[in-house]
Amino acid sequence: MPLIPLSAGPAPSAVAPLDLSIPLMPAHAGVATPAATGYADWRTAQIKRSLNGPSAYLKISDGCNLRCAFCTIPSFKGDMRSKPMGAVLAEAQELAALGVGEIVLVAQHLTDYGRDLKLSDGLATLLDELCQVLPAHVWVRLMYAYPHGISPRLIETMARHPQICAYLDMPLQHAHPATLRRMRRPPDTERTRQIIADLRAAMPDVAIRSTFIVGFPGETDEEYTTLLAFLSDMQLDRVGAFQYSQEPGTHAATLPDQVAPAVIEARWHTLMQLQQEISRQRNRRWKRRTIEVLVEGQGTADDGTPLVVGRSFRDAPEVDGQVFVWGRAPIGSKVQARITQTTEYDLWGKLVR
Ligand code: SF4
Repeated sequence: MPLIPLSAGPAPSAVAPLDLSIPLMPAHAGVATPAATGYADWRTAQIKRSLNGPSAYLKISDGCNLRCAFCTIPSFKGDMRSKPMGAVLAEAQELAALGVGEIVLVAQHLTDYGRDLKLSDGLATLLDELCQVLPAHVWVRLMYAYPHGISPRLIETMARHPQICAYLDMPLQHAHPATLRRMRRPPDTERTRQIIADLRAAMPDVAIRSTFIVGFPGETDEEYTTLLAFLSDMQLDRVGAFQYSQEPGTHAATLPDQVAPAVIEARWHTLMQLQQEISRQRNRRWKRRTIEVLVEGQGTADDGTPLVVGRSFRDAPEVDGQVFVWGRAPIGSKVQARITQTTEYDLWGKLVR
């Protein structure tokens, strides 16, 4: 991708499976610290992570039939080819037998799964089949869902199966129709708004993540302002933003009206500040509620108090926040945590016995 990845979330290292005992400092350690007792202690805590984490990726297709103006992937991967459904199911069962507690379905264009297999609503069908063969405690998470492939049946299927995380990573890239046209992506932002509304109607707690490109060639002040207004309206839980940079071999690199780097950077900072407050508000909704956490690391605070770190259904590996829970629990287990503190990225809580 011709982009500089600058995510609103914590750095990947914050959830990478390590077998070392490391003094874990979050990438966002510079953010304002709540005054609550116990919050700061974990920042200097030693946290051990399992080498073979309790989460695994499962690729269900490769390649992409689309031709977004900024992307080189189709030029070397070619058109989308789906993994046969039987192979996906077998791989998922193998992972479950190994003790994996979360299977993350990935592809370049996840919601196009099965088109080449002549399946209609292939991803929804695959999810139904996965939930037949997997133990009920294994989470299934969807990443890289191209927005206009999200069908009513897919939403209904997600809502019907508790083991499918009420979470969707849906890269949108922009919100102004003219920018989207230049990106060679669907310009129908009203349809995107409706999809988000439908997801929330079916799954009130659904966590929606998206990514956007700032400073795409020709992006005017008005187009950029439309993007900010969209973010304010949609109140997405998590947003990653990329500063556009020219990538040789892409159509976008040949477009006129390239935006000056200083303008791109200023726009990026404004967007990130806006989204940080939105993410903070979205996380705040979880205060005093109980949430299930997949434990990925163990440690102790400076005063010896045990704590574990993991993720809830709202947090994808490597890109989203984490949940820190005071107490003891084995890596790979799922525990219930009552949330006592929230920030724009992470939640803190106590084990519910
Ligand atoms: S949908 Fe994704 S992989 Fe396909 S062309 Fe667009 S950015 Fe590239």
